Amino acid sequence: MRPENILALLLAFSLATGCSARPQMDTTKPHHTEDGFRNNYPSGWKRGSFWKWQRERWAKGLPRTPDGGWHFPLVHPDVAWIRANRDDPALTWIGHATFLLQLDGLNILTDPHLTGRASPLSFAGPERIVPPALGFHDLPHIDAVVVSHNHYDHLDAGTVERLARQAGGPPRFFVPLGLKAWFAAQGIRDDVVELDWWDETELGGVTFTFTPVQHWSARTPWDRNRTLWGGWRIDAGEASVFFAGDTGYSQDFKDIRARLGPVDYALLPIGAYEPRWFMSVMHVNPEEAVKIHEDLEAGHSVAMHWGTFVLTDEPMDEPPRKLVQALRREGIPHERFWLLKHGETRRLDQPMAETVAVSGGDATAADVR
Ligand code: ZN
Ligand code: ZN
Repeated sequence: MRPENILALLLAFSLATGCSARPQMDTTKPHHTEDGFRNNYPSGWKRGSFWKWQRERWAKGLPRTPDGGWHFPLVHPDVAWIRANRDDPALTWIGHATFLLQLDGLNILTDPHLTGRASPLSFAGPERIVPPALGFHDLPHIDAVVVSHNHYDHLDAGTVERLARQAGGPPRFFVPLGLKAWFAAQGIRDDVVELDWWDETELGGVTFTFTPVQHWSARTPWDRNRTLWGGWRIDAGEASVFFAGDTGYSQDFKDIRARLGPVDYALLPIGAYEPRWFMSVMHVNPEEAVKIHEDLEAGHSVAMHWGTFVLTDEPMDEPPRKLVQALRREGIPHERFWLLKHGETRRLDQPMAETVAVSGGDATAADVR
């Protein structure tokens, strides 16, 4: 990040409002403490690492973006098909951690982010390098939104406000424990359901279970880990889906498999992992994403959290290349771990067929070898 951006972000932090109310902590639970939430498994996190990283990238001239000239193909989703679809289970990668899931007749968004920056400011902070594949006017009526945690690339105030005002009424927002106060500060008081780890709830016959992952939360320098983070397991009649949000590698995924069983589709992050000395506690690299795919016993996995915002130090086109190498090393066919183009739709009842994207051709691992 450039120096002026850091200054602007600090200014924004000092102006940030609305999420200071503390949730009711239950310190009989191991992940609840007096000061906030903590991970299930110790991760070796060290205070002061963020500033050490900032000094290091400054010295190295990183990140080498957004002028790196990378081009990521964006296919244009078949908006008419998506808006009409109630019968075919499908997913569309809108970009970063945002998917439209169409399951059992419900339209579900994961970590919706449809604006230009992952930042508290409209003029500074990580900028989107590929536009969202679906705009607000393209979306069908959204029934449910799942939010993994409150970092700016996963919880975007502008997007949430627009969704709350959608024609036909707001979606149901499923959020981690402690985030209801932030939604109330945005004027969204109804239709927000807070869940602790392993809590489950239901909408339209579909079950939503919030699970532990290894990460953290903050929107300002003063609210670290005051709200929870996690993944979402969504069990519909047509398919089960696990959405990991942001995570480092941990035992949590074997726990999730043991408790909830194998999953049909796992949406897993593969980007934002360098430098490892700092990022490994909070973001997996592609090799670790493949380990999670195996730990979860996922039928298929889908790569996300890459190629959209410049957040960390690896080249923007490196995660898919490393994913392909890791799959080859593990002997997992690339058809089992999808690398979608931004905007690509896949029907989940025909997992080998790329049926719905209208331009851009077939997106397979061959594109990034
Ligand atoms: Zn995060
Ligand atoms: Zn993230």
